[in-house]
Amino acid sequence: MMKTLSSGNCASLDVPAKNSYRMVILGASRVGKSAIASRFLNGRFDDQYTPTIEDFHRKVYNIRGDIYQLDILDTSGNYPFPAMRRLSILTGDVFILVFSLDNRESFEEVQRLRKQIMEVKSCLKDKTKEATDIPMVICGNKCDLGELYHEVQPEEVEPLIAGDENCAYFEISAKKNTSVDEMFCVLFSMAKLPHEMSPALHRKVSVQYGETFNRKSFRIKRVKEADAYGMITPFARRPSVNSDLKYIKAKVLGRGGQPRDREKCIIQ
Ligand code: GDP
Ligand code: MG
Repeated sequence: MMKTLSSGNCASLDVPAKNSYRMVILGASRVGKSAIASRFLNGRFDDQYTPTIEDFHRKVYNIRGDIYQLDILDTSGNYPFPAMRRLSILTGDVFILVFSLDNRESFEEVQRLRKQIMEVKSCLKDKTKEATDIPMVICGNKCDLGELYHEVQPEEVEPLIAGDENCAYFEISAKKNTSVDEMFCVLFSMAKLPHEMSPALHRKVSVQYGETFNRKSFRIKRVKEADAYGMITPFARRPSVNSDLKYIKAKVLGRGGQPRDREKCIIQ
């Protein structure tokens, strides 16, 4: 009989807050956000366009015996409720900002998003006004379309990342899987996360093995020193707004910080 894993079981993995991260993918509609999420989760690409409202995925890892959790928020390009976007930004630890190389407007949206991330995050900072240590990659997606279709040149992106060692730019293609793995590697390395979290650098554990993955015995005993495993949590549901707020608090206090200005942190 096939063993299944409920999200409740996964909660029993008890991942410490310091090992829990959230990756938020932002950008205009149809730029390839879901395609990048799909590459990350299952290595596939789908030519069909399915509008996203907000997709939530969770991946758990056992890396050399330590358990990590990565939540992936694949957002919609147009947020009907600005507060939702602000909340997504507040809960994000690492960001992927996507534009499509053949669409100039989508690049302008990335510029606005980057500014908004800096503003929203700065309210969680103690004293400093600017939040510059937010790991973030900017992706010019659909590079497979060819230079002729490019409406944005790399020189135009440079000022956005200049002087920020936590921000990098990649021209990628989710379709052809060009530079996607490199992009994730650099993002995780900027965020000081284990590079084994990148799709190419760990063994994928399927749901059938999920039960084993979840067992305490597996957590330590069966994992060899050098091993890294990753498993997509089936049936993961986006946490409630309340849980999100608790998550933000745990992160801020975990860093020993204080919300800089209470009023400005209100989600409105
Ligand atoms: P989202 O709205 O940003 O989530 O965009 P999707 O991931 O749904 O992609 C929108 C459309 O662009 C879909 O038809 C995809 O198949 C297509 N697409 C996504 N990534 C690429 C890419 O790298 N190259 C090309 N040519 N098309 C892509
Ligand atoms: Mg989408």
